[in-house]
Amino acid sequence: MAEIALQDVEKFFGENHVIRKLNLTIAHKEFVVLLGPSGCGKTTTLRAIAGLEDISRGDIRIDGKVVQALPPADRDIAFVFQLFALYPHLTAYDNIAFPLRATRASRSEVDTKVHEVARALQIEHLLGSRPSALSGGDMQRIAIGRALVRRPKAMLMDEPIGALDAKLREDMRTELKRLHIENDSTTVYVTHDQVEAMALADRIAVMNDGVLQQVGTPTDVYAHPANLFVAQFIGSPVMNIFPTRLRSDGDSTALLVGEGEASFSFPADLQRRIAEARPGASELSVGIRPEGVLTAQTAQPGYIPVEAHIIEPLGAYDIVDLKVGSEMIRARTHSGFVARAGDTIWARLDPAQTHFFDTASGASLNIRFGD
Ligand code: ATP
Repeated sequence: MAEIALQDVEKFFGENHVIRKLNLTIAHKEFVVLLGPSGCGKTTTLRAIAGLEDISRGDIRIDGKVVQALPPADRDIAFVFQLFALYPHLTAYDNIAFPLRATRASRSEVDTKVHEVARALQIEHLLGSRPSALSGGDMQRIAIGRALVRRPKAMLMDEPIGALDAKLREDMRTELKRLHIENDSTTVYVTHDQVEAMALADRIAVMNDGVLQQVGTPTDVYAHPANLFVAQFIGSPVMNIFPTRLRSDGDSTALLVGEGEASFSFPADLQRRIAEARPGASELSVGIRPEGVLTAQTAQPGYIPVEAHIIEPLGAYDIVDLKVGSEMIRARTHSGFVARAGDTIWARLDPAQTHFFDTASGASLNIRFGD
């Protein structure tokens, strides 16, 4: 068992308040990714769980037991950093065996466990090599092997594949996922790469400026971002966000873009739902991912004519910048859908994929159509 619970955790470095009232429980066997921009407090949180950093307030519990007074060695947690930190004079075998030797395990026990871990990581053929003879990916496999060999209750990983090139990162991502499934160890993983987070996590905890913004499955945070920060941090290309006003338009609601030079048609009850959800008469922002902008070659009911401005062909699909009034809205179309920049196509916003935010606080109004 290893459940990790952070309760009202706060951390100051001098005047700098880097973790603010953090509450997060990582379930037994769960893979949770701490995701956020540089400096948001991810590493400090991870180091606090490991016992490498004191916290200023709150509690950290492992399996219900408060651990902040325990030294790292007594927490039964393994840590993998971005930099491999292998002993250069030891072979891969001895690097992996190192934590076991420190526990005075017998020679045959060490041998069995090193081979078990090496087999899982597919590095048995490298056991006799020294780090200087290995590639970055192999070194990181060995660092992970060294962390796993004790079969710790929990694994903490801080950008463990951040230093590798793109292709290797993708391979290692798949491998880390497989290893987690085979090993079952509770894992907390830090990254600023949202694609990595989406690919690996059971749940993603998005942080910004020391504050936990949202915790949810990758699908959850992608499809139902809690606020403007999460909406724009998750997803590539980023979600379109623009200011809007609403106007009653017979049996529909007109959603005005920018200064109102263009408008999209929405269900009639949108205005009422917004009024119920919104605090006062604050400003409203709309968010829509490029795939939520529906496009057509010819005029269709509910679609408005727009000019294609820039076309980015990405192979499997195109991203097209559409000029809608004073705003530029990016749509995802199939490859070659718009022949030339400057062409006019027709577009509408899919209500089921449209998000509404209170501009001042950034909070989502949680209005969903078509659920
Ligand atoms: P990165 O991805 O760049 O490592 P991060 O989200 O992991 O960023 P942290 O490393 O946790 O962020 O840093 C959070 C804040 O705490 C930053 O403002 C950083 O400058 C500060 N900080 C981190 N460690 C220390 C320290 N030992 N002393 C003083 N300030 C620190």
